[in-house]
Amino acid sequence: MIEIFKNSIRKALQTRPLSIKEIPVSKEYEMLGAELKKAIKKRFSRSFHIREVDTGSCGACESEIIAATNPIYDIQRFGVDFVASPRHADALLVTGPVSKNMELALKRTYDAMPGPKLVITLGDCALDGGKFKNSYYTLSGVKNVLPVSAHIHGCPPKPIDIVKAILILLGKTK
Ligand code: SF4
Repeated sequence: MIEIFKNSIRKALQTRPLSIKEIPVSKEYEMLGAELKKAIKKRFSRSFHIREVDTGSCGACESEIIAATNPIYDIQRFGVDFVASPRHADALLVTGPVSKNMELALKRTYDAMPGPKLVITLGDCALDGGKFKNSYYTLSGVKNVLPVSAHIHGCPPKPIDIVKAILILLGKTK
């Protein structure tokens, strides 16, 4: 027991916080991010604003969105910004299978956005209900409520998948 305790103290003393520069982000992420920055500048001149709505996700999709905005992935440096109001949003990013009690809130958020309205679904649940498909309390996907412009596959998708999907969407959008 004493040995375990001593080892824990030794390890704790050896641990040191890593600086951001010591945590590697893949070259592919950086390359796609640079392309995304150019695409946003061309299409929006400044930033691409996203309003996120959780319609009943398990929380893991949100964790990945949060990871994309942390100091390591820092998606904001490519011109992607998350906003609190749908009135400031270029796109709606939706997670979850759309539980029946979130249908009205989702529609109202969409209605409050200025046009043209882009809707991006994130995660398998938002595509077709995923693990909650055909459940009595969900509508089995966002497409059953709103027109969807792009989907980000995964359960949950990674930050690089988010960057890739926005890049493809902006390439298709005039
Ligand atoms: S897609 Fe997967 S991670 Fe995302 S909300 Fe559904 S179950 Fe959770």
